[in-house]
Amino acid sequence: MFVLVINSGSSSVKYRLYDIASGSAVTHGVAARIGEVGSYLEIHGTDGGTRRTQQVVATHAQALELILAALVRPAPGAPLASLAEIGAVGHRAVHGGDAFVESVQITDDVIAEMERCVPLAPLHNPPNLMGMREARRLLPGVPQVAVFDTAFHQSMPPEAYTYALPGRWRREHHLRRYGFHGTSYRYVCGRAGAMLARPLSELRMVVCHLGNGCSMVAVKHGRAVDTSMGFTPMEGLVMGTRSGDVDPGIVLHLTRGLQMTAAEVDHLLNQESGLLGLSEVSNDMRVITERAEAGDEGCRLALDVFTYRARKYVGAYAAAMGGIDTLVFTGGIGENSATVRHMVCTRLAFLGIALDDTANRSACGVEADISGPGASVRVLVVPTDEERMIAMDTIALGIRSVPAAGDP
Ligand code: ADP
Repeated sequence: MFVLVINSGSSSVKYRLYDIASGSAVTHGVAARIGEVGSYLEIHGTDGGTRRTQQVVATHAQALELILAALVRPAPGAPLASLAEIGAVGHRAVHGGDAFVESVQITDDVIAEMERCVPLAPLHNPPNLMGMREARRLLPGVPQVAVFDTAFHQSMPPEAYTYALPGRWRREHHLRRYGFHGTSYRYVCGRAGAMLARPLSELRMVVCHLGNGCSMVAVKHGRAVDTSMGFTPMEGLVMGTRSGDVDPGIVLHLTRGLQMTAAEVDHLLNQESGLLGLSEVSNDMRVITERAEAGDEGCRLALDVFTYRARKYVGAYAAAMGGIDTLVFTGGIGENSATVRHMVCTRLAFLGIALDDTANRSACGVEADISGPGASVRVLVVPTDEERMIAMDTIALGIRSVPAAGDP
């Protein structure tokens, strides 16, 4: 029996198929540039081969049809004899508002509630919903599960999620901190607990998810108590192309003073800022680190602002929890960049944070404990795996009963 994980985004549908018996992913791929010129299907088959075929993928419905066809033999590298071997489908769902505090089996009511969350995530929820509807249509009777990026953060207390805005506006327009990357955080917290061989209920943990999107969470005794992304994923840390925290007065200045439109400000803050805006070279931390070392001033500034902001948040979250005993790095940058980890941890010795430089330098994309000898805070590197988390939730919630050996 298999579980299919689907991440249906605005212009692509990514998928990964897990064999429940072995727990391993057997194939994955993507239908990309949906509705655009140059759309294609890319499949990483069970035979180890990668096949990319240029073909018209006009809609999300067509993307799902092509993906399902590619999973069944005689399609090359296909793992399934028939679609009946798919026991459940797990969907990445970006925004569950305050309605979803955990993953749920998808019903008509769940779809309706997600529709109500569309104004909160106008770019993400509609394609998520398209993926859910099409998968339900194409795999009738197969349980489907929605796993929300926001759910993990629903445990935050009011003082952490409330903006100091007038009550009527907060209530009528649902203006509050939601937080994102929750599925990644749940996976990473679970792995960190396993690495330390300690229950999460004993730990005060800060997890830094540093990728193209960056955020941080404070997890006290297994529950999120604060997180840096807010009403949208724009708040908080410096990201690849997003500014993170800025004075909201800047937005007023841009619109009122400089007559920029909302779309122009959106582009400036979401696409042109962050590491890219600071360095004026790239949003890729590899390029920035290399150039900073070679003396490029913009890249040095980008690295300094990025790591200073992250360090400030670690301190803030230690204060929010009344202490910290575990600091975890994940995401493309967090998992791979010894330089960034070193710079974030600098001057945090007063919290008990110190790195073992050799362990830090050699930890690249693997689970590792990089704490310095005698440090009271354990510093870990944990590669994230959101899809595996979605598969695990889906198995827990949705799987059709697997026929026992010998059943007719
Ligand atoms: P996303 O948020 O899109 O999932 P990732 O988590 O894959 O992104 O992170 C992507 C970023 O990770 C890249 O922009 C790159 O800057 C960074 N990255 C990947 N490998 C390295 C590395 N070896 N050193 C520094 N940064 C890296």
